[in-house]
Amino acid sequence: VEDAVQEDMARFEETFEGINKRFRLINRIGEGTFSTVYKAEDLEYNQYDNSWDIDERENRKWSSPARRQRPSRRPHYVAIKKIYVTSSPIRIFNELELLYDLRDSDSVCPLITAFRHTDQVVAVLPYFQHSDFRDYYRDMEVSEMRLYFRSLLTALRSVHAKKIIHRDVKPTNFLYNPAQSRGVLVDFGLAEREGTDWHHCPCHLSDEDRRYKAAHSVYAQTQQSGHNITSYPKSDTRSSRRANRAGTRGFRAPEVLLKCTQQTCSLDMWSVGVILLTMLSRRFPFFHSADDIDALLEITTIVGRKKMRETSILHGQVFETNIPSYSESGHTLEKIILWCTGRTGEKTQPKKELDEDEKEAVQFLYRLLECNPAKRITADEALRHPFITKGFE
Ligand code: ADP
Ligand code: MG
Repeated sequence: VEDAVQEDMARFEETFEGINKRFRLINRIGEGTFSTVYKAEDLEYNQYDNSWDIDERENRKWSSPARRQRPSRRPHYVAIKKIYVTSSPIRIFNELELLYDLRDSDSVCPLITAFRHTDQVVAVLPYFQHSDFRDYYRDMEVSEMRLYFRSLLTALRSVHAKKIIHRDVKPTNFLYNPAQSRGVLVDFGLAEREGTDWHHCPCHLSDEDRRYKAAHSVYAQTQQSGHNITSYPKSDTRSSRRANRAGTRGFRAPEVLLKCTQQTCSLDMWSVGVILLTMLSRRFPFFHSADDIDALLEITTIVGRKKMRETSILHGQVFETNIPSYSESGHTLEKIILWCTGRTGEKTQPKKELDEDEKEAVQFLYRLLECNPAKRITADEALRHPFITKGFE
């Protein structure tokens, strides 16, 4: 363990009174935007009350009653998530409350307990052994992708069944153990319950009502009156729309980028699609833009202008671009993946194709990277999709 990490852990033990009575800090394993996470040994682990232990939970499911009763003697490791004191109390409470609500959900990392010392709050979770995404995504076989997504989708099915949107689905928040083909979803720091605001985004309207609204929009009226908008309006007095855009760059769904105020669990499914696209194209990160407009343009490169115009109208927005390099109908995902993996089939080499397994993956990918959230596949449907069920019937 590095000196700087040792110092940091010593400072934590000093300031958080009593923490070392129960836990022995081992290492620092994560440093995010909202927290620092440490691996520690739980010295007071109660071997008879191990309902929170992920391995024990699996044991109970799969092993004989005799084995179930035998308490394990191995040391028990936990992840201590020290939430930054700059986080608002509401945010901290929200994360803990949602984790508590999800305590019995498969593939969701359960919360063991939480402590507060003055302004510092820590959440204690069972430690889950996992590999760094960057170490395995390039070499993953499609058969391994099926298992990865089976596990991730199982987690999302239970989260979404409770109408909770995770909002930050990405590789660092899904801890995966390739050897066990099992992972756990973590980090509910940005999660929220579905259904806060239903009435401002036209995406819940019928096609007819939406067309009427679009035809009478300020934009349509300025177009009709002969004002040709050639540049960005500089003194726009309309109030800007505000919507939750929490998430991570590169993983935000089009409806989040378009400020839809009626966001649903399906926004997590888009992020699942970005992970699959990353694996198939062997490019990480696949999308890079920090800015929402640039991020929309990145998506437009793939789906084309026509699809992006339609998607924007769904949410009462107008999408126009005069950049000539964006094609009207975009590119197929097959083509994108072939490009990214250097199988372009130029004159000098024979035309390359995706293999059968990859083609199945792409069919599934189209269902995830569907721009209309109402048409996008749900976690429950995804678990019944042939790509996921193959070999498990
Ligand atoms: P943040 O909100 O700061 O992103 P996370 O909950 O995502 O916090 O945790 C940050 C990192 O800490 C994770 O990406 C992971 O590497 C590690 N981590 C979190 N929880 C666990 C756990 N239960 N077991 C092992 N490692 C964990
Ligand atoms: Mg995280």
